[in-house]
Amino acid sequence: MIFSWQNDLWTQLLGQPERIPHALLLAGPTGGGKTAFAQSLAARLLCETATGLNEACGTCPSCNWFQTGNHPDFRLIEPGSDESEDSETDSEAASTKKKSEQIRIHQIRALDDYLAIGTHRQGARIIIIRPAEAMNPATANSLLKALEEPSSTTLFLLITNSKRRLLPTILSRCQVLNFEKPPATAALEWLGQSDARHAQHLLAHAGGMPLAAMDEDGDWDRLETFFSDLARIEHSGPVAIAGRWESWLKENKDGEAALQRRTLVIWMQKWVFDLVSMKVCGRTLFHAHKLQELRAAAGRASLNALIDCYNDLLRIRAVSQHPLNPRLFLEDMLSRYARAALSGR
Ligand SMILES: [Zn+2]
Repeated sequence: MIFSWQNDLWTQLLGQPERIPHALLLAGPTGGGKTAFAQSLAARLLCETATGLNEACGTCPSCNWFQTGNHPDFRLIEPGSDESEDSETDSEAASTKKKSEQIRIHQIRALDDYLAIGTHRQGARIIIIRPAEAMNPATANSLLKALEEPSSTTLFLLITNSKRRLLPTILSRCQVLNFEKPPATAALEWLGQSDARHAQHLLAHAGGMPLAAMDEDGDWDRLETFFSDLARIEHSGPVAIAGRWESWLKENKDGEAALQRRTLVIWMQKWVFDLVSMKVCGRTLFHAHKLQELRAAAGRASLNALIDCYNDLLRIRAVSQHPLNPRLFLEDMLSRYARAALSGR
């Protein structure tokens, strides 16, 4: 299903389907629904009955295969989507964690055989690659040949939230579709229909990106605790707060931590960003509903210390996936914040 804010792009493509190029790059910030759009487009082009601007019918054999992930003319290439072991790259890999964030070269090379044969349903063949920036230069280069030798039936859909990290040679072979931040009214309407609570606050906290806001809907109570912890850090102290946050990282939901360390760092960054913004221009970007707390906290901090803290957080974010002791990681981050937060007194 496409989102209301994507209607224009959908019409642009399906209004003239014969002009859809053989490689599209869907580019734009995270949380706007690019992947959902790519999936809908793939389903529509593979569907054996849909016409015009309609979406895929959802009932034909092709749609059934697509929905169950078994369509022979569709491939989704993403980090870890091919679990088969590649002993050569495995022995080279320094860390399995790092590796799983990348699309591996053999995943792209496997396309050669796939593209060499005809399509199974005599229709389109669609290959989604996401995120495109997860291809290192060698992997991206191995894709160039397929992009250079377009076949009339094959469509590549590359998805990225970081266009500047792609090789120029990849960019030059794709037509770019820009997915801008959706208008707030459309985003709020969708969040309302999706039963998100506190839609306006969540949307602001997610930088205006509705799917990212929806992801945070389940974290609302934690976010409220997070804000009050930071606002009251001089009373609670970094150690006690780190203890509470550590429990968030441990909670298990289907074997996964309920909250990622990286998410906590991003929340911190937004909070400190707004403290800086408060001091500089008296406004907030992410926390309009926490104006009072931010104003008070900004009054206790010096601008320089806040900027230093923000830069520290950029470095902390870069190592947030490393297997450091979570308690020490959080205590370090919160101590840096506490120093900045109380620097102006
Ligand atoms: Zn169909």
